[in-house]
Amino acid sequence: MEEKEVAPFLIFWNNAMWIGGIIMVAAGIVLFIAHKVRALSISDYKARYDFLNAREIRTYKMVFLCFAIAAMLFINLYGANKLNEMGVWFFVRLFISLAGGTLVGYVAYLIMDYYYPTILNRKLKKLRYTPRTSSAGNPMRLLSEEEEDVHLEEGMQAEESAFSMDYDVWVDEKTGEVKIEKYQGHLEALKCNSCGFYTMQVVREEIVTPATATAPGELIKHYQCRYCKSVRATAFNISNKGPEDYSLANLKSGFRKNKNIDMVRIEIHSNTTGKKFFEFDSTEQARKFLSEYEDKG
Ligand SMILES: [Zn+2]
Repeated sequence: MEEKEVAPFLIFWNNAMWIGGIIMVAAGIVLFIAHKVRALSISDYKARYDFLNAREIRTYKMVFLCFAIAAMLFINLYGANKLNEMGVWFFVRLFISLAGGTLVGYVAYLIMDYYYPTILNRKLKKLRYTPRTSSAGNPMRLLSEEEEDVHLEEGMQAEESAFSMDYDVWVDEKTGEVKIEKYQGHLEALKCNSCGFYTMQVVREEIVTPATATAPGELIKHYQCRYCKSVRATAFNISNKGPEDYSLANLKSGFRKNKNIDMVRIEIHSNTTGKKFFEFDSTEQARKFLSEYEDKG
């Protein structure tokens, strides 16, 4: 078999792709294992919940980024044992590798943004409701929404009814030890500057200047703290874009089909608590809130 001499640059290039690719795969695996080990080393369920909630998706995205770069580098080795001289093929392959790496990374990001949160939530739910053990070593009991109120400060109760924070109260019935855990609620409420609880909610909206075809309008949102009743008003711009502008944006954004929805408002009439408004910034959040709302009765 005739052995042709390989151009020195190609030898260097092929080695660089091999080494770089292996380093990127290794980096991804190390990141993944380090995350898993760190999560498992946190023995407190609530602390592990917070860790996973804050870090898991971000870390997995980094892992996939490493793999996407590795894929890009490895594509540059395609046909490396047959191609001995530089040529246009080199740049064609380079271009395909860039496109391939981007595709791998993009698909991974979509999965982490839209599909993985469901799996993560299931994991978090399990951690949240795993029975706690008191310092005396007894199993603790999770109090129901009605029972827990005696253990919560009034401000905490106000946060719960605003859906901004959710408190779980665990009790050791033998020793009376109480453990209170704080979770993010389903609704964003702003932090009240007077009492410090997350209980600032919109009570009224007022259009100061309506939007015209040429200029955006102005809207003032009036907030009131559900706990200490202090008030705040903030001005917002009203978009002067019509539905046709949004349909164009929708076409461009492709997969992100809900990105043109700025706000979803739900009004619930109840014979015990009266009329309530809830605001969400996506339909997904609103759906989640509604199913949770039904669970609570
Ligand atoms: Zn307040």
